[in-house]
Amino acid sequence: MERGEKKGLFYPDVLFENIYEITPDFLRANGVRGILLDLDNTIAPYEIEQPTDEMNAWFTALRDAGVRLAFVSNNHGDRVTRFNRAWGIPQFCKAGKPSPKGMRLALRQLGLAPEETVSLGDQIFTDCVAAHRAGLRFYIVPPIRDRKNLFFRFKRLLERPFVRSFRHYRLYLSKTDSMPRRQKGRDLT
Ligand SMILES: [Mg+2]
Repeated sequence: MERGEKKGLFYPDVLFENIYEITPDFLRANGVRGILLDLDNTIAPYEIEQPTDEMNAWFTALRDAGVRLAFVSNNHGDRVTRFNRAWGIPQFCKAGKPSPKGMRLALRQLGLAPEETVSLGDQIFTDCVAAHRAGLRFYIVPPIRDRKNLFFRFKRLLERPFVRSFRHYRLYLSKTDSMPRRQKGRDLT
């Protein structure tokens, strides 16, 4: 899928089971220097106000690897600020995703180019569309609430035509997000 190509708007580039599968090694291998993060149900469920130890360890690993981070959230600033207090990660709230505005603003302020940045979120119609409109690759995780029912969640997703290629994307987990072009959007049954 070409960046900005209309039919690609709804296609995540890589599917992960959770954020912890996204490692500094994986990012380095894929030329990723920055991640624009969705917060709710991607990093933490709504009711978790502070990062857990596991989340802190993940942030630390990324920071130590020099990966630049920003929150781009449709939620209000209070929620994000509370969660972000200890880290002070740049945050762009009420981002209005699927508008790409918040993502573009974040890129500018972080000094990152779209080619070296990915967006990470849990929603196709907001996170994924906004990311691709801004020219970013999009990494998806299932919403935290549904992870216990992962199988059924994906089964439901796979019934939708535009996510059928997840079957292919899964094969590429932990390898590379540079899929052969011809496999994107083809061989869909
Ligand atoms: Mg979300």
